[in-house]
Amino acid sequence: MSEKDGNRRAAPVLYLVVPCYNEEEVVERSADVLGGKIRRLKKEGRIAEGSKVMFVNDGSRDHTLQLLHRIASQDALFSVVSLAGNYGHQSAILAGMMTARQYADAVVTIDADLQQDIEALDRFLDCYGNGCEVVYGVRNDRHSDGFFKKGTATLYYGLMHLLGSKVITNHADYRLMSKKALDALAEYQETNLFLRGLIPTMGFASDVVYFDVKAREAGHSKYTLSKMMTLAMDGITSMSVRPLRMISALGFIVFVFSFVMSILSLVDWARGNNVPGYTTTMIVSLLIGGVTLLALGIIGEYVGKIYMETKHRPRYIIDTLVWREERQEDE
Ligand code: UDP
Ligand code: MG
Repeated sequence: MSEKDGNRRAAPVLYLVVPCYNEEEVVERSADVLGGKIRRLKKEGRIAEGSKVMFVNDGSRDHTLQLLHRIASQDALFSVVSLAGNYGHQSAILAGMMTARQYADAVVTIDADLQQDIEALDRFLDCYGNGCEVVYGVRNDRHSDGFFKKGTATLYYGLMHLLGSKVITNHADYRLMSKKALDALAEYQETNLFLRGLIPTMGFASDVVYFDVKAREAGHSKYTLSKMMTLAMDGITSMSVRPLRMISALGFIVFVFSFVMSILSLVDWARGNNVPGYTTTMIVSLLIGGVTLLALGIIGEYVGKIYMETKHRPRYIIDTLVWREERQEDE
């Protein structure tokens, strides 16, 4: 296809990076579906020989790793990066992308549970061919989500935009990045990683591809409420200092309010109407106490982030890597 149209980029070596955490129920099926897609795209000449599926085992405690190793030993199309522990979805993706960029021209990250429609890959490749360095997969609707997930997601994206983050609504981490974009991402050294917010701030020519979300093929969501809350907090505090500004604004309002109240009380006192004001006193002290604690909490959140950043710890540790050259007869 590249010879037909001089403006298009040549077919890339594509790596699918697939994070897996306790996914024993689904990995074999994922390997079938994702591997099948890669084979078809190779045959059609849309991606180059050497393209692979790279699973990232994020410290699974079930049999995921054994299954992945078996899959990779049977077919060199599959590669396995195994992390030393559970570093979380974002770090697992990062580990996969950083490993894959040594071999690939483009990397697509996709969940192991096959919720994200792999057939959208053709359109990702179209955008890449047209010169995009980043392509975001955006879900069409949230039918397959429960009421809770749908509600919290809507609330979350609203809040993120309010706080000035550039996150793309309904874009999870189904995304294509070119080698150039990945090399740029490697320059970002932050520990508090929120890829969805970070990548749009990098710039680069980008596009959006819409896809349908299906129900999970097997197993249950690995995003526990606490993992979700952590991601949400990271998303806000790693992308925006607006909460700190809000504290300043709130502090100013409370200050003006207390100043006026003090004057009024003094005037009252001077006039001799020293009325007992239990309710007012309670409200004012509770209000100020509450606001102070809230402010301290928010500031503490940022201080904690600074603390973690200053340690410069590695964001993930790779325990083992399985990667084999495909022989020609494997096709
Ligand atoms: N995942 C991971 N580490 C974690 C949690 C999740 O690598 O600590 C992976 C998981 O195996 C899956 C992807 O991240 O491939 C998305 O997780 P999940 O499907 O459970 O999230 P949901 O779709 O429910 O938001
Ligand atoms: Mg999922």
